[in-house]
Amino acid sequence: MISVTPKIIYDCDVLIVGGGPAGSGLAFHLASKGIKVTVVESAVFPRDKICGDGVSPIALAELDKMGITGADEFEKANEINKVGLFLKDDKVFIDLSKPDYLPYHARIIPRIELDNWIYEAAKKAGATFIQGTTVTEYTTSENAAVVSLKSGDKTFKLKTKLLVGADGANSTIARQLHGRKPKDDYQLLGLRAYYDNVNGPNDRVDIYFNEDGFPGIFWMFPKGATGANIGIAMISKTFPVKPDHVKKILLSHIENNEDIKERIGDGEPAEKIKGWPITFFNPKQKLSDNRIMLVGEAAGLINPLSGDGIQYALLSARWATETIEQCVAEDRFSAQDLDTYTVKVKEEVAFDFALSNLLVQFPRNKTFTKMWIKILTAMIAKAKVDKEYADTIAGIFEGTYPSYKALNLSFILKTLKQGGVELTNSFEAHIKNPEKSLDTGMEMVDFLTKIITEVKDNPKAHLKWITDTVLKTATVAKHLVKTVDMEKVNKVFRSE
Ligand SMILES: Cc1cc2nc3c(=O)[nH]c(=O)nc-3n(C[C@H](O)[C@H](O)[C@H](O)COP(=O)(O)OP(=O)(O)OC[C@H]3O[C@@H](n4cnc5c(N)ncnc54)[C@H](O)[C@@H]3O)c2cc1C
Repeated sequence: MISVTPKIIYDCDVLIVGGGPAGSGLAFHLASKGIKVTVVESAVFPRDKICGDGVSPIALAELDKMGITGADEFEKANEINKVGLFLKDDKVFIDLSKPDYLPYHARIIPRIELDNWIYEAAKKAGATFIQGTTVTEYTTSENAAVVSLKSGDKTFKLKTKLLVGADGANSTIARQLHGRKPKDDYQLLGLRAYYDNVNGPNDRVDIYFNEDGFPGIFWMFPKGATGANIGIAMISKTFPVKPDHVKKILLSHIENNEDIKERIGDGEPAEKIKGWPITFFNPKQKLSDNRIMLVGEAAGLINPLSGDGIQYALLSARWATETIEQCVAEDRFSAQDLDTYTVKVKEEVAFDFALSNLLVQFPRNKTFTKMWIKILTAMIAKAKVDKEYADTIAGIFEGTYPSYKALNLSFILKTLKQGGVELTNSFEAHIKNPEKSLDTGMEMVDFLTKIITEVKDNPKAHLKWITDTVLKTATVAKHLVKTVDMEKVNKVFRSE
């Protein structure tokens, strides 16, 4: 008897869940290559996304490749030329230098506009969008991925050759693929408040740190002529547990910080404060499997140090396109065929993210907040007198430099040396003013007592923090062993 395999009817070649920068960006690239692509989006465009709205030069270069930077609306978006760093009463303003290979400085583009431009570009390239519809689950087999959808009361299924999860920080697809939601260790919480009628300048972004809000980072990004995006990104689980609600910390910063108060002036909130998680890269989790891939924040592609995610959403869309184009041509979508994408992502960003994640791991232990504030003070002092150093800091916040390039040995040694200078200055001050020395001595005793008490009261949690830190250090060390040229390292040490 001859057996005939029935021909499978697919609804599309590639079904993408989520139409943000990663999903619509990928749809644009695939449709431009003639691949039949459908995007399922639970919202309806134009839709908002809680964000700082900072679009880095690398993200803008990606938009440029997609022909999105030619529009009049793009020209109207605020171009950023300066960054202000604020810590207590200290501050520094850094003029941003533009790397030769990037066409623009960063811009502030409200996501309701930016994401709509990418969506329109994808539609124009030939992608199909199903909006107001949510993907609830999927199944995969050797021959297909089948996706369950819900739109109002209606439920239905679609069959595709390949399923791509581009559904952001709370990804349904990633949760099913990994069998769990992201661990607290790999998440930040972000809050955003839009303000109207604030003071300029509208080409400067401001970043604030303060002891009460630490390890939170506050921002004020100018939006249009007189608007602002004000917010905080905070590690969701600090240790010891922070009693204050993150929203309270943001409101207290807006009310009490003299620098932001001056900039807000007579400005007023334009809407309620809104929050959303920021999920970052866990090197142990899969990015692809049989007939399935993750891109953008669903894959954790976000820099924990800068909170930058738009550029990685767009970059991963382009990297995924290279693999998908080949898979569609050969009609092969096994885990092994899709692995070239995972390898590419790991080559490009895994070390950078592992290092940034390790750096975020330290401030998670609030016992050491005072030490971090001292390091930040040293960084601001150094940025005032050393342009190259200031550029590096600005580059990290602007998302222009990967942190592993920016936070090189030379940078770290400069910071430590500056820390030494700060200590020398305070030592001189103490000699001139012994009473002050006594205060500081008492402060030190207080600080050590606090550490000892906290370790004694909470040994389990401290042990967990130490274990997590060691594991994250081991991940970085693994990359270092693979990539670092020891001769170069020695040279840097000798030159410092
Ligand atoms: C407060 C805050 C500030 C930030 N600031 C910045 C910044 O200034 N610069 C920067 O570069 N990054 C910033 N980020 C990060 C940035 O917002 C994200 O990294 C970026 O949006 C990721 O893009 P994406 O396309 O992967 O996901 P998203 O933009 O989140 O898009 C996912 C899409 O999937 C849809 N979706 C979700 N689930 C489903 C489902 N089950 N079915 C169908 N559709 C679904 C959603 O509606 C959404 O449209 C910030 C994040 C936060 C929270």
